Amino acid sequence: MTKKFYITTAIDYVNARPHIGHAFEKVLADAIARWQKLNGKEVFFLTGTDENAQKNAQAAKEAGIPTQEFVDKNSKIFIELCKKLSISNDDFIRTTEQRHVKTAQEIFKKAYDKGDIYKGTYEGSYCYGCEAYKTEKDLVDGKCPQHPNREIVLLKEEAYFFKLSKYRDQLIEFVPKYIIPKSKKNEILSRLKTEELKDLCVSRTNLDWGIDSPIDPKFKIYVWIDALTNYISGASGNWPADLHIIGKDINWFHSVIWPAILISTDYELPKKLLVHSFLNLKGTKISKSLGNIIDPLKLLENYPSDSLRYSLLRCNIFEDSDYSKDILIERNNKELADKLGNLISRVSALAEKNGIEKIENSLLKKLKLEEIKKKFEEYELDKALTLIFEFVDKCNTYVQEKKPWETQDKKVLYELVDSIKALSILLWPFIPETSEKIAKSLGFEIKSLDQINNPLEVKSIKKSPILFEKIKMGE
Ligand SMILES: [Zn+2]
Repeated sequence: MTKKFYITTAIDYVNARPHIGHAFEKVLADAIARWQKLNGKEVFFLTGTDENAQKNAQAAKEAGIPTQEFVDKNSKIFIELCKKLSISNDDFIRTTEQRHVKTAQEIFKKAYDKGDIYKGTYEGSYCYGCEAYKTEKDLVDGKCPQHPNREIVLLKEEAYFFKLSKYRDQLIEFVPKYIIPKSKKNEILSRLKTEELKDLCVSRTNLDWGIDSPIDPKFKIYVWIDALTNYISGASGNWPADLHIIGKDINWFHSVIWPAILISTDYELPKKLLVHSFLNLKGTKISKSLGNIIDPLKLLENYPSDSLRYSLLRCNIFEDSDYSKDILIERNNKELADKLGNLISRVSALAEKNGIEKIENSLLKKLKLEEIKKKFEEYELDKALTLIFEFVDKCNTYVQEKKPWETQDKKVLYELVDSIKALSILLWPFIPETSEKIAKSLGFEIKSLDQINNPLEVKSIKKSPILFEKIKMGE
């Protein structure tokens, strides 16, 4: 029986256009989803948009259009981004969809019936940017560090609370096997052990936008039980998730609040949470409030999807990385065009002209496949790419040493072609469109990792089309 693998990204706010961080998380999840497919898993991949947030209603008001129309329009932009980036998601959940509204209300009701949701009064500092109440500790000089240009306001209101405090011991037990990487796990664990775990406000009043509370129509369901439950409303029967992928700013919500809601409502717990870091622009956080957004859809108007994917996946996911258009261009030119593209165009042209003759592939022994697998298992995708490109270098060196353009050695050409086959499979999670083009010119279809060790059985090779054009800096 094939094992299923249910993978999710965070859902995105639709109050603005997608930025490069959204693209980063989606290609990261997509690369992992594709890797799992190569390993024979039956993958279910969910992404989506968070549409009930008050800031969507605010943004719609500013744009002068009805909120539903606004979120319909903007969620389409996120769907378009997924398509243009060749994201292989199986479903796209929008939290204004009826299937989601129903699930969120059911889960809220279930927690209430269990006695885990009660009525009280809430008073606290609130950041409209985060849509979250803030404790003193969350603020730097009285400002939200994520939204330094916004004012923190004091809110006081009647509200429903979720008994988060009740689940502390269970969370301390759960978290160690859940969060990746270790540094992010330790952060949460230490907070759970040393801080008072306060009950959580799960409702809001005076809103005209959002999901109605199923127990008190004066209230809307506030963020947590709404947004987080998308992983169940969009699961199509695949719950529990094998892997949630999220940014480091929402680690607490996914590590503490989400499992507590699930324990309370008798759902199975997700298996793993992968917490990635952020992309920086020349050392500065990329954010809307700082006005240094990189728009991935704009990049995709000028550059191939695979070049964008590749340049993003070369970033370390566990530490903040620098990213810019120049980095995209440099990686495209030096690695994709000069190394990979060159290898394939030379070898495929020679193989088409001279033919190939099957022998045991001695070159393939230089591929560090086990190490690459290990890097994937540890989600160090950039390091997997480094190892794959080490093998590209070895193939290029082999061409130089064996000079098949002089010798017309069909056996050497076979070894090279068979090695390129292995590369196309290993690169499929990163640059799927290109990998599929390579596979086509070699006359096979990418299906599984096992194909790497099964020798290529074709008799003739077609010259590959040009895979990557060089991009001029500043273009
Ligand atoms: Zn904030």
